[in-house]
Amino acid sequence: MAFTSHMAQALAEARAAADRGEVPVGAVLVAPGGRVAAAAGNRTREMSDPTAHAEILAIRAACAQAGSERLPGHTLWVTLEPCPMCAAAIAAARIEVLYYGASDPRMGGVAHGARVFDHPQCHHRPHIYDGIGAAESRRLLQDFFAQRR
Ligand SMILES: [Zn+2]
Repeated sequence: MAFTSHMAQALAEARAAADRGEVPVGAVLVAPGGRVAAAAGNRTREMSDPTAHAEILAIRAACAQAGSERLPGHTLWVTLEPCPMCAAAIAAARIEVLYYGASDPRMGGVAHGARVFDHPQCHHRPHIYDGIGAAESRRLLQDFFAQRR
C-alpha cells in the first residue's frame, strides 16, 4: 500500500473551522487499508462543548461507525499538537500512528505540558511524527487570532 499524506485534508478541515469562527484545527482518521474513516474540525463554539475538539469529533465518528471504542491500526492526522484531553482519547482508542503539524507549547499535551504518552499510566503510546504541514497550520492559527484582536 502506498503511503498517502492526509495532512492536506486535515488543513482543509482547519480552514473550514476558521470559516465557522472556530479555532482552526482539523483532524482526519484513516482506517487500516487507507480509507478515511472520519474528518472533522473544531466545533467547540457551535456545539457549546469544550470537548468538541477536531480529534475528539473524528474519534467519536469513527468509533460509532466501527461499533467499537477502539480503533486499532488507525492513523490520525491533526494540524496541531493534541491537547492532553485529546492525547488521552488517542491512547484510549488505541490509535496506532499520530501525525501532527504545528507544535503547541501553550496547550499541547504530547511534546509539552502533561506529555500524556510519556506517563507510566498511559497504556498505549502511538507512533508519533510531528512537524508535518506545520508552517501552513501555524499560518492558519496566526491569521485566525490576528483577526480576532
Ligand atoms: Zn484537544
